[in-house]
Amino acid sequence: MASRLIQSTFASPYVRNSLPRFEMPENSIPKEAAYQIIKDELMLDGNPRLNLASFVTTHMEPEGNMLMMESINKNYVDMDEYPVTTELHNRCVNIIARLFNAPLGEGEAGVGVGTVGSSEAIMLAGLAMKRLWQNKRKILGLSYDKPNIVTGANVQVCWKKFATYFEVELKEVKLREGYYVMDPEIAVEMVDENTICVAAILGSTLTGEFEDVKLINDLLVEKNKQTGWETPIHVDAASGGFIAPFLYPELEWDFRLPLVKSINVSGHKYGLVYAGIGWNIWRTKSDLPDELIFHINYLGAVQPTFTLNFSKGSSQVIAQYYQLIRLGFEGYRNVMDNCRENMMVLREGLEKTGRFNIVSKEKGVSLVAFSLKDNSRYDEFKVVETLRRFGWIVPAYTMPADAEHVTVIRVVIRQDFSRTLAERLVLDFEKVLHELDRLPGRISAIIADGNNVQN
Ligand SMILES: *Cc1c(COP(=O)(O)O)cnc(C)c1O
Repeated sequence: MASRLIQSTFASPYVRNSLPRFEMPENSIPKEAAYQIIKDELMLDGNPRLNLASFVTTHMEPEGNMLMMESINKNYVDMDEYPVTTELHNRCVNIIARLFNAPLGEGEAGVGVGTVGSSEAIMLAGLAMKRLWQNKRKILGLSYDKPNIVTGANVQVCWKKFATYFEVELKEVKLREGYYVMDPEIAVEMVDENTICVAAILGSTLTGEFEDVKLINDLLVEKNKQTGWETPIHVDAASGGFIAPFLYPELEWDFRLPLVKSINVSGHKYGLVYAGIGWNIWRTKSDLPDELIFHINYLGAVQPTFTLNFSKGSSQVIAQYYQLIRLGFEGYRNVMDNCRENMMVLREGLEKTGRFNIVSKEKGVSLVAFSLKDNSRYDEFKVVETLRRFGWIVPAYTMPADAEHVTVIRVVIRQDFSRTLAERLVLDFEKVLHELDRLPGRISAIIADGNNVQN
């Protein structure tokens, strides 16, 4: 059998016979055959670089890839065994804390942790906020069983998960047509004594728009003065945290604002690392309650940990450090600037068709969110479904409450989405519209379908 495999992998009995799908096969097969079988099936996945639905990195340089492969067998949690990896993690925390203007003295260590992504980071940040609030309420002899978070209805699903898993009410500021972020005035009005924090988003998932963290901060400072509360702010900078410092350095959204106590960012979005890394940074040590930190000593030395997971890979941490030192401030600015330029090419190209309303702003995360001006004959879902034939993976979705009647198409611009691709995508959108225009409209299609059923 082995000799037949050498002659042709595909003609070998291993590949000719189908494997059981939901049971472990009885016997082993040669590694070449296993590899080929799996590789073939994976061909039917989409091409990650054409996946314009996602913010998550799909390209790294060969040197970054090499570092990741070389550290793929290192468990991050074995900090005593891999002290250099731990050191690189701590350097990343410090670099990012300073990028976000944490009030650190020279040589003072930043407070933060690497996570699997922003979702885990938000769970930890939320837990810290909840515990700090509870501790304060306990000292004052007040009830502490009804914590809430004030946020926009545009929050990413991980906030809903946090609220459900850790029993915190989400008080959502509703959106309205034409306004798709949290309204600062309404948000601060909704704050009450049980509010553990206001969660602001730097780069709304839906439209890329930056929420006005400075205004929220200023309104909340006033409210805290009047009420005697100390309601803080967490900034969900999953996508914007690696954009704003480079493109909008004067924009005050981070630890420059006194009420911002913690910030999360996805290393695997504009941090430019493959999926599996996020960061949460706290303003100071006192913003992270010590009782949430576990000190473990069974791996050698006493190590503090504050994460939901125990074991995880080291590759993403090492890759993050690679990107930070390889690109430096200059490099990140160049990448973000280029994304912005390509966003403008796409935005202007789509505008020029005369068929779309652009919903996203020019300032924010580099993406274009847009709706059809006329969706009476076919809708946004039909457009992206037809576009898929050209290879592009682009999502369409409806907005959250109270703007559910608005549907948008969203194209995210990542580092590896070049000018050529942006121009080509516009042409392909034009082809799709042209094709759909020639089809019978929705109503005649429904009648035609009805006739088919009767026949
Ligand atoms: C992507 C995103 C998240 C979730 O981040 P992961 O890193 O994928 O876990 C949370 N909030 C916002 C605003 C996001 O864009």
